[in-house]
Amino acid sequence: MFKPYKSLPPLVLPEELENRREEFLRYLHSARENIRNFASGYCWDNLAEEEFFDQVMIFDDKKKYNTALLKLVEADCNLELPDTYCAALEKRILMAVTPEYYARVYPEGIEERSYEKLFTHEIAHRLHIRILNGDEEAMGPIWFFEGFAIFAADQFSQSKLILSKDEMTDLMRDPQRGSYVKYNYIFRYFVSKIPLPDLVFKAKQDNFSEDLIWLLEN
Ligand SMILES: [Zn+2]
Repeated sequence: MFKPYKSLPPLVLPEELENRREEFLRYLHSARENIRNFASGYCWDNLAEEEFFDQVMIFDDKKKYNTALLKLVEADCNLELPDTYCAALEKRILMAVTPEYYARVYPEGIEERSYEKLFTHEIAHRLHIRILNGDEEAMGPIWFFEGFAIFAADQFSQSKLILSKDEMTDLMRDPQRGSYVKYNYIFRYFVSKIPLPDLVFKAKQDNFSEDLIWLLEN
């Protein structure tokens, strides 16, 4: 039995969304439950108990979201953020655009409960860091740490995409951010063969991707 969660941290909504407060609280509740259930499956329950965020902010304007996020992380406010950067959890503040904006700029991500999964994904990155005892540098290559959050959030679980070994290899060697649907395929491929905790703890090794690629080929 799970201990019931304390009430949710403050949710800041623009005035236009105030009438949808309950709806957003439901997404947040579900996202938190999703993370707890996921963590529990790997005996990481204790790591999911403490609250992951102190405040939630929803934006109905992507420009305002970008500005607030860049300010929060003390980055150059003139930096261009891609349209598809729709949520973040930085400095214990969970920020996101509206479900409507997310669906519009990222149709690839549309599936049942996709907005709740977007929150779950961001919280999953924080869980990942807790599993690594706070060591963000140990999260591994981008395909892996994004794959972890995608997998924990159960995103693209109905995807029918199949990648060849060559395509997987190319993506795993590419340090640039690639397709999350493809990362999902790669992550699930390896997690079906190697226990997830083993992958998580090996991901910091320099030869991590190459060792897995070797497995693909042999
Ligand atoms: Zn992510």
